[in-house]
Amino acid sequence: MTTQRRVPRDAHRRLRDARRRMDWTQARLVQEVGASQSAISMFEAGKAGALSEEKIAAIAAALGVDLAAAPEEEPSPPQQLPSLWFRPDHRCVTNLPTIISGEVRFVPAMILAAAQELACPYCAGVLVNRCPGCGEPIALEGAFCTSSRCAKPLVPTPEAPEEKALLAASADAERRRRLEILKSSRARRPWPIQGASDERRDEQTRTEEEDTRA
Ligand SMILES: [Zn+2]
Ligand SMILES: [Zn+2]
Repeated sequence: MTTQRRVPRDAHRRLRDARRRMDWTQARLVQEVGASQSAISMFEAGKAGALSEEKIAAIAAALGVDLAAAPEEEPSPPQQLPSLWFRPDHRCVTNLPTIISGEVRFVPAMILAAAQELACPYCAGVLVNRCPGCGEPIALEGAFCTSSRCAKPLVPTPEAPEEKALLAASADAERRRRLEILKSSRARRPWPIQGASDERRDEQTRTEEEDTRA
C-alpha cells in the first residue's frame, strides 16, 4: 500500500491547522515526534513525501487529529453567477445616447461578467450590476430598469434643461462617435478593481523605466 493511499491528500493542511490551533511551533513538533523541522515545514507546505507515513501518523497522534475521519466541510465560496454590468455615468463611452420619447437617454452596453468589483475598461469607473434607482439586479439589457415599481433610466441624465437640450441635440453624432471608439478598441474586458490599480502601477513603472532609458 502506498503512502498516497493511506495518508489523505489534505493531511498536511489539517495537521498544520491543528498545530496552529494548539499554538504549537514546528520546533515543538520536532521535540514531540522527532522529525526534522525542515521536513515538517516541507510537509506542511504540501510536499507529501517529505515525511514518512509513520511520522505523519505520529504527528497526527501528537496533535489529536484523526486523519481517517472525514475532513470538516469547507465552507463553499459564495456562488458568483454572471450578471449584467454597466457604468451608471452618461459620460462613459459605453453608454450610447439615444432619443426616446423626445428625451435623451443612455443605453448602456452591458458587460456579462461573474466577478465582483469590476472597473470599466474605458473610464476606469466602478461598474454596477444593480439599478442605481431601486437597487434591483439588472435582468435585461436596455435604457430603463425593468422592475415594475421603478422603470427609472439606468444611466442618470443631467437634470438641468440646458444640459439636457445640448445632449439631445448632439445625441446622434455622439452615439456614432462612441460606437466608433467601442468598435475600434481592442475587445477589452473589465478588470477587478484590485487588478486595476496593479495594472496602472505596472504601466507607470514601465513608463518610468522607459523614461530612464531615453
Ligand atoms: Zn466607463
Ligand atoms: Zn430600478
